[in-house]
Amino acid sequence: MNFIETRGNDGKRAKNESFSTVILNPSASFGGLYVPENLPKLDLNLLKEFSYGELALKVLELFNVDIKKDVLEKAVKLYENFDDSNNPAEIKDLNNIEKNLYISELYHGPTRAFKDMALQPFGEIVGSLAIERNEKYLILVATSGDTGPATLQTFRNRENIKVVCLYPDGGTSDVQRLQMVTDNGENLKVIGINGSFDDAQSTLKNLLKSENFKNKLDESGFKLSAANSVNFGRIIFQTIYHIHGYLKLVKDNILNIGDKYYITVPSGNFGNALGGFYAKLMGLPIEKILISSNSNNILYEFITTGRYSIVNREVINTKSPAMDILKSSNIERVLFSLFGAKRTRELMEELEKNGCYQIYENEIAVVQKYFSASFSTDSESYIAIKNLADKNYLLDTHTATCIKAHKELRDLDLPNIAYSTAEWTKFAPSVAEALNLEKNLTDQEALNQISKKLSLKIPHQIENLFKLDEVHQTVLSVSEIESEIIKFII
Ligand SMILES: *Cc1c(COP(=O)(O)O)cnc(C)c1O
Repeated sequence: MNFIETRGNDGKRAKNESFSTVILNPSASFGGLYVPENLPKLDLNLLKEFSYGELALKVLELFNVDIKKDVLEKAVKLYENFDDSNNPAEIKDLNNIEKNLYISELYHGPTRAFKDMALQPFGEIVGSLAIERNEKYLILVATSGDTGPATLQTFRNRENIKVVCLYPDGGTSDVQRLQMVTDNGENLKVIGINGSFDDAQSTLKNLLKSENFKNKLDESGFKLSAANSVNFGRIIFQTIYHIHGYLKLVKDNILNIGDKYYITVPSGNFGNALGGFYAKLMGLPIEKILISSNSNNILYEFITTGRYSIVNREVINTKSPAMDILKSSNIERVLFSLFGAKRTRELMEELEKNGCYQIYENEIAVVQKYFSASFSTDSESYIAIKNLADKNYLLDTHTATCIKAHKELRDLDLPNIAYSTAEWTKFAPSVAEALNLEKNLTDQEALNQISKKLSLKIPHQIENLFKLDEVHQTVLSVSEIESEIIKFII
């Protein structure tokens, strides 16, 4: 499979790249992203009886990725460490609560958020490439709380890889912080930063521009790579669970092959939704992709009006922090698929220059053929959590935004698979508040109270966190980060 660039080619880079190259070096010409030149077509009848692992291998084969078969097999085998070794992404039928609602639980992996679905196999593939090529890679992550733990977990103690993870000190939940600072992998460095998630992100961006840093990297023999959600190596694994979800409804005789259905995706950087969009282009009969956001409703605004604007907007801190985002990077790949490289480059340059772009009426119609959108405020999400909990199903604050989308966005009476992106255990204090338990509980108190009240088990991955040593104690100001990272790599 060839990869091409969303903003066209600058004449310096190769016009076509391989899968292995684009996952190790994800930055494309003019600041664009890599996308597959063509998408394969799915034969749903053939895939119907496949296990999750078999389906994943088949999709990788259809994309014709240039990774050895035994590496892919090992990567996909990691799904066997999820709660149910046969099925990493369980689907729950919630018709008794909301007609036509199904929830695909994507959080049954080691860090209890859906980032594991892609990062688990991704880590195996990148790790194998680093060894095979005899190259050393440094992976830098800035995290608001879910990407960090999942990235550390997948790369821990892998040869030829080091990971540096920056998180905003005080800006994550206790559970998220503990998942990072208790990870004692020898190749990992976790640094708290005195500042917000945006500060962490811009610190990394500035680091990438620093000549001193580049020189030190060269001297130490490290190449830089990235594991963020614009890396196509993550996106490919996010098409698979969409296909799997549909086939499960077929297997359960809820749908026949070819019948239409909806999907609903709580969205931030749009990786999850993009996986669904690609699956639709590959032939999955998705009637429409319903996008749900929180009060940072930039995606809602774009999909309903065609205007993408961050002018005079600041990120609002909500109870669904993994969706607190204004620059939703993967929208760019949708623009490319629908309108081509020339137009995508034009729009992205407008965004960089003016902080906004507006697509034409006819283009809005095209976007709306694929997507509808709504957003939930924190109080709307809390009500959804409470209502469903009263009927014995507990949502986290991100997944809760899907309920409004489910109720309001479907024109047709079709089944809807909503994606659950985190377990309640990752955001227990907010979930406790939604359930009208005490306010301002610590994570541990909230976990215990909810578990008792709803008779839910706290998974061992979360329970154990409170017993482990905090091996990473460093909290620094922005100006101290560069030298700290250099010390770690030389
Ligand atoms: C990352 C994340 C999201 C957003 O997913 P995108 O693919 O970036 O749109 C939503 N919910 C949770 C819990 C997450 O960790």
